[in-house]
Amino acid sequence: MTQKRVAVIGAGPSGLAQLRAFQSAAQKGAEIPEIVCFEKQDNWGGLWNYTWRTGLDENGEPVHCSMYRYLWSNGPKEGLEFADYSFEEHFGKQIASYPPRAVLFDYIEGRVLKADVRKWIRFNSVIRWVQYNEDAGNFTVTVHDHSKDSTYSEDFDHVIVASGHFSTPNVPFYEGFDTFNGRVLHAHDFRDAREFKNKDILILGSSYSAEDIGSQCWKYGCKSVTVAYRNAPMGFDWPDNWAEVPALVKVDGRTAYFKDGSSREVDAIILCTGYKHFFNFLPDDLRLKTANRLAAADLYKGVAWVHNPKLFYLGMQDQWFTFNMFDAQAWWVRDAIMGKLDIPGEQAMLADVKEREAREEASDDAKYAIKYQGDYVQELIDETDYPSFDVDGACEAFYQWKKHKSENIMGFRNNCYKSVITGTMAPVHHTPWKDALDDTMPVYLQN
Ligand SMILES: Cc1cc2nc3c(=O)[nH]c(=O)nc-3n(C[C@H](O)[C@H](O)[C@H](O)COP(=O)(O)OP(=O)(O)OC[C@H]3O[C@@H](n4cnc5c(N)ncnc54)[C@H](O)[C@@H]3O)c2cc1C
Repeated sequence: MTQKRVAVIGAGPSGLAQLRAFQSAAQKGAEIPEIVCFEKQDNWGGLWNYTWRTGLDENGEPVHCSMYRYLWSNGPKEGLEFADYSFEEHFGKQIASYPPRAVLFDYIEGRVLKADVRKWIRFNSVIRWVQYNEDAGNFTVTVHDHSKDSTYSEDFDHVIVASGHFSTPNVPFYEGFDTFNGRVLHAHDFRDAREFKNKDILILGSSYSAEDIGSQCWKYGCKSVTVAYRNAPMGFDWPDNWAEVPALVKVDGRTAYFKDGSSREVDAIILCTGYKHFFNFLPDDLRLKTANRLAAADLYKGVAWVHNPKLFYLGMQDQWFTFNMFDAQAWWVRDAIMGKLDIPGEQAMLADVKEREAREEASDDAKYAIKYQGDYVQELIDETDYPSFDVDGACEAFYQWKKHKSENIMGFRNNCYKSVITGTMAPVHHTPWKDALDDTMPVYLQN
C-alpha cells in the first residue's frame, strides 16, 4: 500500500500540535503518513509570530498577525499548558502565570524544536486552492511558493485546515469615519500602545480585544479610554480615566456621538469588532461557515468536516482552552486518519453537531461555557493516547481567573495558579503587570 499523504495548512499552535501528534506516534514506532505543512509566513507560531507590519506582508499577502507589543497572556498559562511538555521542562523552572507573548512563543517553539518537525514545513507557502477529486477520492492542493515565486499543485489523501480565525477583521462603518480627523484602525492593525500616549481613545466592542487593548493603552499612558458597547458593558471596576458608554451612532470631526445622547472628543478610534472565519482557498463544498462559538458548525467532534470527513479543521471554536485543546483535537485527527478511530455516517455526524449546539445554547453563563469546553477536551483525550491531565483543575484556574478579573481588572495578572501538569505553584512575578513596562523575555524571566 502506498503511504498516505496529509496536508496541514498553517504552522500556528494548531498546525504545530498536529505535527507533534504525528511525530509522537512515529516515536512510538507507528507507520505515519507523509506530512506536509504549508505555512504562508517565513516562521512558525501563527499569531504568536509577531511582526511590526500591518496590511500586507513582504510578499503582498494579508498580514496574519493580530498580536501587539506588550501583549501578555490574557488567561493563566495553567489553563493552556501542554500535557507532554510543561513550562518547567521548557524553562528549567516554574514561571509566573501570565507570560508575555515572546515567552509563550518560546514555549510553543520549544516543544516542536524538541520534536524536530520543522523539516515537515514548507514556509513562505500560501495555499491558494483546495479541490476534492471525486473519482480519485483525494484532494488537489494548489500552493504559491513565495521563495521561488512559483505556483504548483500536489495531491493529498487528507487536508487539515489549521489557518486560524483571528486574522480577517470584521470592520463596520459608522457615519463620519471617512471624514474623522484622527486615526481609525481595527484591533488587527494595533501594534504599539505607546502610539496613543496622552491621547483620548475610543474603543468599539466589549470583548477581549476591547478589554486588553484599552488596558494596554491605559498602562502606557493614554489620556482616557472610552469603550462603546453594543449589548452590555464589560462592567469591570475600571480606572478613573476609563468610561463605558452605549453604542456609537456617528462621528463628526473629532466628536463621537453615542446612543444615550452623550458625546466625546477623541483622537483615535480602535475597532475591537471581531474577526471572520475566512477561507478564500476553499470551495463552497469544503468551506466552514460558522459563528465564533464553542460548537462550531458542521464539524463532527469539533474537527471532522461532516460533508467530507477526509477534511479536518483545528481550532475553529471560540476559545477558553487553547493549546491543550488544539492538542486534544490534533491527537484525535491523527488517530482518525490512521484508522484507529471510526468516523460514522453523515447523519450521525450531523446529530453530534446538533447535540453540541443544543448543549452550548443551554446556558450563557461563563462558568458553564468553560466547563463545556473542558468536557470537550476531556472527551477527545479519552479517545487517544494524549497524556491525560487534570482538565477540571485547568477549568478551576479559569474560574479563579474570572474571579480575579472581577476583583481587580488591572491587577489580575499578578495572581498565580498551580500547574495541572507538574503540580507546582507558579511564583509571584517580580513586578506587578501595570508597572512592568519592559516585558522582554530576559527581563520577564529574572527571579
Ligand atoms: C490578539 C489576540 C490575543 C490572543 N491571546 C491569547 C492568549 O493570551 N492566550 C491564548 O491561549 N490564546 C490567545 N489567543 C488565541 C489564539 O487564537 C491562539 O492562541 C492560537 O494562536 C490559535 O492557533 P491556530 O494555529 O489555530 O491559529 P493561528 O495562530 O492564527 O495560526 C494559523 C497559521 O496559519 C497560517 N495560514 C493562514 N492562512 C494560510 C494559507 N492560506 N496558507 C498557508 N498558511 C496559512 C498563518 O500564517 C498562521 O501561521 C489570542 C488571539 C488574538 C487574536
